[in-house]
Amino acid sequence: MNAKIIDGSAIAAGIREDVQRQVNRLLEEGVQPGLAVVLVGEDPASITYVTAKEKDCAQAGIFSRDIRLPGDTPQRELVDLIRELNRDEAIHGILIQLPLPGHINEDAVIEAIAPEKDVDGFHPVNIGKLVLNQDGFIPCTPHGVLKIIESLGMSTEGADVVIVGRSRIVGAPLANLLFRKAPGGNATVTVCHTKTANLADKVRRADIIIAAVGRPDTITGDMVKKGALVIDVGVNRVLDNTRKRGYRLVGDTDFSGIKEIAGAVTPVPGGVGPLTRAMLLWNTVESARKKAVKV
Ligand code: NAP
Repeated sequence: MNAKIIDGSAIAAGIREDVQRQVNRLLEEGVQPGLAVVLVGEDPASITYVTAKEKDCAQAGIFSRDIRLPGDTPQRELVDLIRELNRDEAIHGILIQLPLPGHINEDAVIEAIAPEKDVDGFHPVNIGKLVLNQDGFIPCTPHGVLKIIESLGMSTEGADVVIVGRSRIVGAPLANLLFRKAPGGNATVTVCHTKTANLADKVRRADIIIAAVGRPDTITGDMVKKGALVIDVGVNRVLDNTRKRGYRLVGDTDFSGIKEIAGAVTPVPGGVGPLTRAMLLWNTVESARKKAVKV
């Protein structure tokens, strides 16, 4: 059996078209959605991510205010900037690129963002709303994973889902989304981590496997039930001297082994990543739309 290879870029393109329609509607009403993208320091991977986000905004007609701060910026200064952005009428979303330098407390910074502008969905208010199944911002990567499942026309109701990874930005919110009593939820979810006993046995029971680990080859073909859906969130650099840049990107799963057994599988790159980017635009436009309705 050869698994369907899920084209994340094509799914993301559909979402971007929706975003574009919403932006056009808002522009007609005199509202341009605005996103502030804040980068502290010069981490090369973070620079790549924020540059991509700014380009995405420009393409979608979203105004982006790009703010680059030196790596030794005091926490106080960053928090003051966020407070200014909270008051800025042209800004509907605030994105602080993580990780922040070690001297800055990430929790304090995230908590300084007004929840109604927290388009990353990391603020405790938005995480709380997600757990309570209330309307708030859903973090972009978990939201993108839901969109992938939805695009396959697959019901999660009654499905056994195994998520490997329990981080605050991927595994934990995804688990809550998938078991909540709502369309796109109602699954039975098992969350695995480094203390999980017999990982392979647990994964083997799953109809849907979601790997968000940060370690290549954590999920191998022998751990996958025939026909299961495998969503690989992981992005890992492995040395590859045949590539100009000296490395290539791989996920958390053994893609070549898994595609012989799974029913459908996301590639890395080209799977979850494009959805994460698209959902940030979605949340920004949603924030602008909600504000326009309030005014
Ligand atoms: P993280 O905060 O480091 O969390 C990793 C999780 O995996 C932890 O819960 C950890 O368990 C668990 N884990 C690690 N090794 C394990 C093992 N051998 N067996 C079982 N569980 C294991 O990572 P993250 O931020 O969630 O990101 C995960 C991956 O997704 C990374 O590769 C990241 O780059 C990628 N990512 C991709 C996107 C995208 O858009 N495609 C977005 C976000 C993240 P403990 O809790 O016990 O430590």
